[in-house]
Amino acid sequence: MENKEKLERLKTKLEKDVPNLPLAKSEKDIVPAEGNPQAEVMFIGEAAGYNEYLQRRPFVGAAGKLLTQSLSEIGLDRAQVWISNVLKVRPPGNRDPLPEEIEAYRPYLDEEIQIIKPRVIVTLGRFSLSKFFANVYITKIHGQARWLEWNGRRLIVFPMYHPAAALRNRKVMEMYKTDFTMLRKVLNSLNNQSILENNVSQKETSKESETNQQLTFL
Ligand code: URA
Repeated sequence: MENKEKLERLKTKLEKDVPNLPLAKSEKDIVPAEGNPQAEVMFIGEAAGYNEYLQRRPFVGAAGKLLTQSLSEIGLDRAQVWISNVLKVRPPGNRDPLPEEIEAYRPYLDEEIQIIKPRVIVTLGRFSLSKFFANVYITKIHGQARWLEWNGRRLIVFPMYHPAAALRNRKVMEMYKTDFTMLRKVLNSLNNQSILENNVSQKETSKESETNQQLTFL
């Protein structure tokens, strides 16, 4: 089955599961992820806001506009990447997600990752960061690419500030923009790496692993 079909089935399952899910009264409350089913890069935010709830699309309000603009500044279109959230609903008054809510929606996000198999996951804000790294402050780790073994696959996690936080604070905005520039560099390194992977002979495999190491410390 193609990724597109798998993701559509997952969305249908999520909508059918509404009676068992927190903060959702009907499938109209669900804001599904969207984007390219073959994406190499996946962005994970926190939860839907009011505009996302109205349009049933992730990142379409003010923070979403900034994200879309930042993507285009590094040569990416929303349609090329996968855009998702830790919660597939809007918490009342946009409050922080509760641990039990994160846990209830976790299997759907996990399955998106399993289906798409992105090479890079960009976490936006502390809630998606803590999905991959426990007890790590975003202030310490933002803008740094890290290799991670996740459910048996190696992928890169690139933590970033949430665009809504950037809109609230000028200093955070500067770091957010710098991190996007760094993200472009990480993606460029990966592109070079796939050229390497396509061209290396068996003898040269050690070179490939050197490249992996370099990325670890970007
Ligand atoms: N903030 C998020 O974390 N996700 C959205 O989809 C919109 C705003």
